Amino acid sequence: MSGLYIHIPFCRKRCNYCDFFFITNTKRKTEFLNALNSEITLLSNQYYGEKFDTVFFGGGTPSVLTSEEISAVIKTLRDNLNVDCNSEITMESNPEDFTDGSIENYLTAGINRFSFGVQSFIDSELKFLTRQHTAEMAEHVIRKASELTQNISVDIIYSLPSQTEEDVNYSISKAIDSGARHISAYSLTYEKGTSLYKSTEKDPRLIKDPVKDSEFYFIVSERLTSEGFEHYEISNFARPGYRSRHNLKYWTYKNYLGLGPSSHSFFFKKRWNNVRSYSGYVNSLNAKTLPAENLYEPDTAQIKLEYIMLGLRSAGINFERYRELTGEDFETENKAAAQELCTAGLAFIRDGNLILTEKGYSIADEITARYF
Ligand code: SF4
Repeated sequence: MSGLYIHIPFCRKRCNYCDFFFITNTKRKTEFLNALNSEITLLSNQYYGEKFDTVFFGGGTPSVLTSEEISAVIKTLRDNLNVDCNSEITMESNPEDFTDGSIENYLTAGINRFSFGVQSFIDSELKFLTRQHTAEMAEHVIRKASELTQNISVDIIYSLPSQTEEDVNYSISKAIDSGARHISAYSLTYEKGTSLYKSTEKDPRLIKDPVKDSEFYFIVSERLTSEGFEHYEISNFARPGYRSRHNLKYWTYKNYLGLGPSSHSFFFKKRWNNVRSYSGYVNSLNAKTLPAENLYEPDTAQIKLEYIMLGLRSAGINFERYRELTGEDFETENKAAAQELCTAGLAFIRDGNLILTEKGYSIADEITARYF
């Protein structure tokens, strides 16, 4: 089955490290929702024969939409596409968007998984990241949500300047204690063009130390695995049964359809993206035209590389899936590389998969570049 991604292009304010696509004029919500409606309707003929079992509202900040608005989008999806009744339906959410009653309303609307953009449970760190919530607010909302549902994910960012091991452990403890059953832990990135990136040009002390960054990586993974979380993707940890079914589609090279401006799709062996422009998206749909561009079909060499990269970053390269996707035998093609990785303690082979060890995970991208 396939996945649906819906990009909600609104945030109330830009965080200093973020380069995602969104606008801050939330008064345009109705205009956007009308365009999204048209997009779903236009897609319905082409995709009605396909079955979807995950829906992911990402952004931007999907929790800028009210529960009624989310409910209406889910209804339009169900009316026009074949969305399985047991679908995982995730909403990325900012803690400041919730009052005590609203979590319940989103559950009634059809959301069954919340992914909270918390990033830290320390106020000075939240301030550094220019987030709009406080640690107390985040803890309160997650506790409240976990009384109502167990399917809760929390994002944490590590490798902040002057952050200590204790600080990272503190945020992880708070996430676990509050009820998170899934934790995504990312190292802070300095994307070109962001205000954080510009700050590093003025103050090089803000640039992260790669040695410390790698230490943090191991601190986070050792801590979470010792707490019973499975490390199932380089940045993702889940209690048994709580892996993100939607994100697994990306990592196992399954079909997904992206809606909303700047979203990406992979379907019928082709890749494309929607325009990264709010007015371009709305105008195109007002003219009843899909806002897709850059359509191409990856060739076998590209599929191999992409699947290897995704596999190494997650549950491993599955030899059978590799053959399905490329028509080739992974072990024959990559015998020397696989042997070298296993001898170096960076990977192992189990049940027809080449899987990286924790040490290998920490340098997954270097391994892909060097060996494949
Ligand atoms: S809330 Fe999320 S998407 Fe919006 S600016 Fe902050 S990090 Fe970016």
